[in-house]
This record gives sequence, C-alpha cells and structure tokens, in this order.
Amino acid sequence: KEQGKSGYRWYSESMDARAVEHARMGADLQRALAREELFLLYQPVVTLPHGDVYGVETLIRWRHPERGLVSPAEFIPVAERNGMIVQIGDWVLREACRQMVEWQRDYGVAAPSRVAVNVSARQLREPAFARTVADVLAETGLRPGDLLVEITETAVFDGGPAVETVQAIQSLGVAIALDDFGTGHSSLGLLRTCPVDILKVDKLFVDGVAGTAEEAAIATSIAQIAHALGLGAVAEGVETTAQAAKLYQMGYRLAQGFHFARPLSPGDLAVMLEARLPRRGPDAMEPPALA
Ligand code: C2E
Ligand code: MG
Ligand code: MG
Ligand code: MG
Repeated sequence: KEQGKSGYRWYSESMDARAVEHARMGADLQRALAREELFLLYQPVVTLPHGDVYGVETLIRWRHPERGLVSPAEFIPVAERNGMIVQIGDWVLREACRQMVEWQRDYGVAAPSRVAVNVSARQLREPAFARTVADVLAETGLRPGDLLVEITETAVFDGGPAVETVQAIQSLGVAIALDDFGTGHSSLGLLRTCPVDILKVDKLFVDGVAGTAEEAAIATSIAQIAHALGLGAVAEGVETTAQAAKLYQMGYRLAQGFHFARPLSPGDLAVMLEARLPRRGPDAMEPPALA
C-alpha cells in the first residue's frame, strides 16, 4: 500500500514535470523561428531499381541552444498543441519551395523532380491554408506540379474541413501523398473520400519485406492497392539492399531510406545533384587557361 501510494505520487509528479517540460519547450519554440534555430534537411526519394534521385522530402530540424539537436518527433507535437505549427509550417513550405526553385535554376534537368513537404493536422484545419499554398507558389514561382504535400491519415480521417482543404490544394495542381500509410485511423475508407496521388508505406511495413511472406504481406498488399487505384507508392525507411530488391519485385518504383541517402543539408544535396549534371560531350573543351 505504502509503495503503491508513493508510486502514484511519483507518477503524478512526473506527469507534472512533463507538462512543465512541454510548456518550456513550447515557449522556446516561439523564439526558435526568429532566432533561426530551425533548419531544413532534404532526404532523396529515389527510383528503383537504380536509385536515381526522383524527389526530396523536406525534414525540419531544431538546433536548441542548450538541448542541442531536437527531433521533430519531439517538438512537432508540442508545436501542434501551442499552435506554433501554423507559423513554422508556413516557413517550411516557403523555404522548401524557394530552395526547389533555386535547384531548378542551378541544376536544370538534374534537379529533383519534386519537393515534398509534411503538413500537420493543425495546418489542414486552418481555413486559409490552401490559400497560403497558392500564395507561396505564386511568390516563389514554383510550378504546382513540382510540389508534393504529405498528409497523414489521422489528419483527415474524420472527413470534414481538412478534406476540403486537401481537395483545394490538389486542385491547384499540387500532388498529395498519404504519409505513414497503414499506421493511422481509417486507411482504406479514406481513399474514397480524400483525394490522394501517392501512398507512402510506413517503415513499419518495409522492415520485414525481405523476411517471411507474412512479414512482407502488408507491403505487398499496399503495392497492389496502389496499383489497382492508379496511385503511386513510395516505400519509406529502406535500409538494406535486400529490402530494395524485394520492394522492386513487389512493384515499388519509388523508395526512400538510409540505404540510399540520409536527410541531407542543401550543401550535401548539391554535391549529389552536381554528379547528375549531364556530362559535356567528348569534344567539349576546357576554356583556355589564362596565362
Ligand atoms: P515522416 O514524414 O514519415 O519522415 C520520415 C522519417 O523517417 C524522417 O524522420 C526520416 O529521417 C526517417 N527516415 C528516413 N529513412 C529512414 C531509414 O532508412 N531508417 C530510419 N530509421 N529512419 C528513416 P525525422 O526527420 O526525424 O522526422 C520524423 C517525423 O517528423 C516525420 O516523419 C514527420 O512526420 C515529422 N516532420 C518532419 N519535418 C516536418 C515538418 O516540416 N512539418 C511537419 N508537420 N512534420 C514534420
Ligand atoms: Mg513525410
Ligand atoms: Mg512517413
Ligand atoms: Mg514515418
């Protein structure tokens, strides 16, 4: 009894500590944008079987002055709760589109074909969000078809205004991907109510693809669903050659994961794009050296 009681007190105190911790992180987050502590990495999405760059996914990072690098899995939920995600999300969208236009200018055909941006449930509930997307495209000059907006099942599972916002974004010509497919609410019914172009198969289902038929079953089925509905499919979290080969056999033509590339800084991605630039022909001459 005594133990149970102190156990309970420990529990409630740790809950308080968590709440305080979140409040503090939320307050820090308010300043993070202005202090330029947030930055973006870009993870290549590649074609199978050869691993050529097809697109990139924008992934946010926070370099906190005391905590160091904080994972988005930790601070995005906090930003969702205190509403900061709206401002942060607008910044991510604008910066990713601006960066994409820069790559297109600098690398032409060697630039990624598409830039993906993660959008949270809270952003989709903002009535003005589709308008923001249209404004950012107009401001940056990015073609709508070069942008991919990643949403989660959970953000749209109950239908309603979020789905209307997704429809409005898609009607701009922007592509929609359902992220972490299979891990949220609803899944299959959603495909009838919410416009989607691409299914992103969660790492959870990719992990086992090179294992037994049972372990591979869900990834196999999702490939079939995508095919039957005329949707694209991206396998997330590919870490091994065996997984990549198996996914290709299953019909996947797009993949993402540490096996191909980690999330990269714009500078590191530029090195990769540089290598993709069409080589000059054998007759091309170096400009004469200045004596
Ligand atoms: P996500 O959109 O599903 O992104 C994929 C996550 O898997 C990324 O984690 C990426 O670094 C990681 N990943 C990619 N390949 C591999 C792999 O081969 N192995 C393993 N173990 N992991 C891999 P990250 O960057 O930590 O982001 C986590 C989540 O945070 C994202 O999941 C997304 O839901 C959210 N997020 C990231 N950036 C943003 C953003 O700008 N806005 C919003 N709303 N959410 C974001
Ligand atoms: Mg994503
Ligand atoms: Mg995902
Ligand atoms: Mg995921």
